[in-house]
Amino acid sequence: MIHISDNPFEIRTLLQKEYCSGLKIGFVPTMGALHDGHASLIARSAAENDITVVSIFVNPTQFGPNEDLDKYPRTLDSDVAICEANGATHVFTPTETMMYPEGKENFEVIMHLRGMDKVLCGAKRPGHFDGVLLIVSRLFNIIQPTRAYFGMKDFQQLSILQTLGRELFFPIEIVPCPIIREEDGLAMSSRNRFLNTEERKQSLFLSTAISKMKAAAQPGMKADEILKIAFDMVPSYSEIRPDYIEIRRAKDLKLVEVIDPADEPRIFVAAFCGVTRLIDNQPLLD
Ligand code: AMP
Repeated sequence: MIHISDNPFEIRTLLQKEYCSGLKIGFVPTMGALHDGHASLIARSAAENDITVVSIFVNPTQFGPNEDLDKYPRTLDSDVAICEANGATHVFTPTETMMYPEGKENFEVIMHLRGMDKVLCGAKRPGHFDGVLLIVSRLFNIIQPTRAYFGMKDFQQLSILQTLGRELFFPIEIVPCPIIREEDGLAMSSRNRFLNTEERKQSLFLSTAISKMKAAAQPGMKADEILKIAFDMVPSYSEIRPDYIEIRRAKDLKLVEVIDPADEPRIFVAAFCGVTRLIDNQPLLD
């Protein structure tokens, strides 16, 4: 039977015993509403570790005041079934008070980086990554995993957390996992369930624009020439409003002006589809 706990102290005590007896602990932090993207992380962790802990917590501090915190989908029963089916041994489902006993607006420790967290989603969602850094640090200290699994779907989040882990000497291996897509190319996301039929069709703007940019890209081209391909598509998609479309270096998320394979240039797209905000990214050059 899968172990379900909502108490940070209970699960930490229990997992510390396992860690000390030499067992490897894999950790998959999520906000629930699990889909095959999450399942791939859980299954990978289960294959590589003795214990796999999935946390399910819709973290209020990473949502802005006008964002979808209240309407974010919550599907705990089916989430637990997905965890179990993919080999998770523990589910951690804390309440807001358990994770923020001092109050979600009253904490003293604030975390941010010097720059990586101010571009892309960080520029469009001010404070978002402060909330991510805080919750992931708290979760790392509660679970104390051997390895933690994050999807490349949220590439900026992954880069920021790799930096956090490295610079703060967290003794945790961060494992990047590939993006899982629907058959037609849409990156799986908990928010896809908000799309109506027309929006679902038009959501392919993101993956299609990325494919067209990849097909045209050659070393030496200006990034703007490539980005124009995506912006020129927008008028044919009535439900799409781009939030950003940019090419940045994989290593440090710095803007790329001229395409150089040494930069490992990567395309990042965020767009509203109706009122639902979707993101996607891929390497520009294969
Ligand atoms: P979330 O529940 O959206 O916070 O996501 C939890 C984890 O699942 C994060 O590491 C995400 O990057 C990852 N994830 C979400 N969607 C996908 C996907 N389509 N493919 C791979 N990983 C994903």
